[in-house]
Amino acid sequence: MIDVHCHLEQKDYEKDLDEVIKRAKENGLIAIITSCAHPKDFERTMEIVERYKNYVFASVGIHPEYIKELKENEIDNFLDLIKENKDKIVSIGEIGLDYYWIKEKEWQEKQKELFRKMINFAKEIKKPITVHIRNACEDCLKILEEENAKKVHLHMFMCHKFVDKVKENGWYVSINPVILRNKNHKKIAKKMPLERIMLETDAPWNSPKRILEGIYERNEPIAVKVVAEKIAEIKKISFEEVERQTDLNAIEFFKLPISKL
Ligand SMILES: [Zn+2]
Repeated sequence: MIDVHCHLEQKDYEKDLDEVIKRAKENGLIAIITSCAHPKDFERTMEIVERYKNYVFASVGIHPEYIKELKENEIDNFLDLIKENKDKIVSIGEIGLDYYWIKEKEWQEKQKELFRKMINFAKEIKKPITVHIRNACEDCLKILEEENAKKVHLHMFMCHKFVDKVKENGWYVSINPVILRNKNHKKIAKKMPLERIMLETDAPWNSPKRILEGIYERNEPIAVKVVAEKIAEIKKISFEEVERQTDLNAIEFFKLPISKL
C-alpha cells in the first residue's frame, strides 16, 4: 500500500516520526507521499524525504486556504525554490480551491488565479498535480479543463456528480478514511475504475476513530489499510487486488523510483 497524501511535517509527528515510519513499514506500506502545503513547511519536508529516502516522497504546493497569508513575491520565491529542488519532488500540491475556509468572492478569485498559475508551473517543470477541492467542485474542474491539465490527482475527492468528467479526462482520485462514513466518497470509490484509484490518509487529520466516533486521534499512514478494505468491500473484490492495483497506479502516476510488485 502507498499513502499518496499525508502531512508528516506537522507538529503531531515531531516526537516519534521514526516510530510512525516503522509502523508503516511493518504494516505493509511500500511508500508514503507527504504534502507540504505552505512555504514555511518546506525545509522540514525536505529533511523528512532526505531521512527516509526512497520511502517518503514529497508533494509541494500552496494550499488554497493560505491565499491571504502569502504575498506575490513570496509565492514567486517559493516557486523558484521548488524548481531548484524538483528532483526531490514528485508532485505539485496540494493546490486547488477552498470555498469553505475562504468565503469572500475577491479572495476566491485570487485562489483561482493562483490555481491556474500553479497548474502551469507544474506543466513547466513536468510534474503531476495534487488537487484539493472543498465546496468548489464546478469551478475547480472547469479550471482544470480550461488549463488542459492532464496528470491530475484529485485528493480526497468528494464531487460525486462529476465522476464521469474525471473518468473522461483520465484523472486519478485518492480515497481517504472518510470513506468509512461519507456517502459521496463511497459513491466515488464505487464508480471510479480501480485503475484510477489511489489510497491516502491526509494524516494527521481524518483518523478512522475521528470519522467513526467523532473523537480526535492523530491519524497515521497505516490507516490506508482500512481504506483499502473498504474499497474491496464496495467493489466486491479482494483486498489483495486493491492493494496491488493502487500500488501500481501510484508508482506509475508519481513515477516513484521503487520496484513494481
Ligand atoms: Zn492534505
